[in-house]
Amino acid sequence: MERIDKKACRRFLEPVTPPSSDCGLFLVESLKYIVRTAVKIVGHRRLLILCLYARGETPGGRPKLAFTMFQASDSFITYDHDPDSKTRWRTAMLDNLDKEYGFSFRKCAFYSRPDEQRVLNFCKGRSEEGFNALGWMQVNIREKECRLRVRRRQQKVVREFQPLRPLPGDLGTWLGREILPAYFYYDAKKGAKKVRGVCSACGQESELEGVRHNAKGVCPRCGREFTMKSNRKHGFLCDRETASVVQRLRDGELVVRIIKVYRSHRRGESAFLDFYEETRVIVRQAKDGKFKAYPYHHSSYDMVLTPWKKGYPPVMFLYGPNFNAETCGYLYTRNLKRELNGTPWQYCQLEPFYQGVHDQMEVAPYLTAYRKYPAIEFFVKLKLFWLASQIAYRGNFHDGEDLLRQCLHELSANSSPNSDTTDVYRSDKSI
Ligand SMILES: [Zn+2]
Repeated sequence: MERIDKKACRRFLEPVTPPSSDCGLFLVESLKYIVRTAVKIVGHRRLLILCLYARGETPGGRPKLAFTMFQASDSFITYDHDPDSKTRWRTAMLDNLDKEYGFSFRKCAFYSRPDEQRVLNFCKGRSEEGFNALGWMQVNIREKECRLRVRRRQQKVVREFQPLRPLPGDLGTWLGREILPAYFYYDAKKGAKKVRGVCSACGQESELEGVRHNAKGVCPRCGREFTMKSNRKHGFLCDRETASVVQRLRDGELVVRIIKVYRSHRRGESAFLDFYEETRVIVRQAKDGKFKAYPYHHSSYDMVLTPWKKGYPPVMFLYGPNFNAETCGYLYTRNLKRELNGTPWQYCQLEPFYQGVHDQMEVAPYLTAYRKYPAIEFFVKLKLFWLASQIAYRGNFHDGEDLLRQCLHELSANSSPNSDTTDVYRSDKSI
């Protein structure tokens, strides 16, 4: 899109003779501006020029030129003649020049038929009304500019994720076996002491005693705790969970990929499992030397090149919280050693920390906090998980001494630190 040469335009601020002050249109109270037009070659471009005249200061006085609009085939710009105006060159469409609804239709009129005909010839629109034709042309130009802007923005995101590798091949199996709640499906038999059933986690059959619908038990094959479900009784079972996969993106950069998994099971049918990636958080060193998290979320709205948009997804919808915005989840640990090796997080103890806290966690804050407070490594090695999580998720310390002082304070304030660790592995910023 070629820019309009403002310097050249300044020589064409009034290329028309002003309308006569006796013109009857100035007597129509509702009209604010009378429009005269011209088509000129300005700075090697053919431009349509619109001059908007307001009525003179005194009745019958010389009309005052208020705006001169320069319209090219792919852009437009307006010169504001008001000496008090803060913006000399306005970029608004004709309809938005005066911040009034239907400005061009209600407040403006062409001075003569040839003035309108020039606009119709220039805009080549389907409309037979001058302001309408110009309005459509300007709306189309705006839309084209908007699409270009979105494209440029999304090109950056595409480049950002270019080195990204596929998700681990066994992710689906892992989610189904280890993350989603397990069930023991059985066919009830009256009077039978032992009942045969299938564990949903490992898919193996086993015979158990004391089987009762909705009772808890442990799979003798895989050792997972499950809930017993009679094939004849259970209703629609639907579970959803969040999990994180950490991968290396570039040298010294990690990406935390947050996965949402759903599984539904209707009576008499086989279970259906689906998972998708909802959020990606890149952790890298910013220009100021600090390690920061750069989140992206999946949204098909306005998608041109990629569905990934900057920022976290909306936390709330009109009708309730957005599960997709949850970033706290289970951690896929099978690839961790390989992915973190040789990165600034090689010794961050993410896996021992996760195993130690036995809970879901938000990974990105831990990774950034580790770079800020490397002491986390030693706290985790000493199995001081509660202390490590305080530093990672609640920490805001000036220096090492401050950190130590606050840690000691926290320790003395909580005589039984393990009693209340719920929800500590989640940053304050998330939902
Ligand atoms: Zn099992």
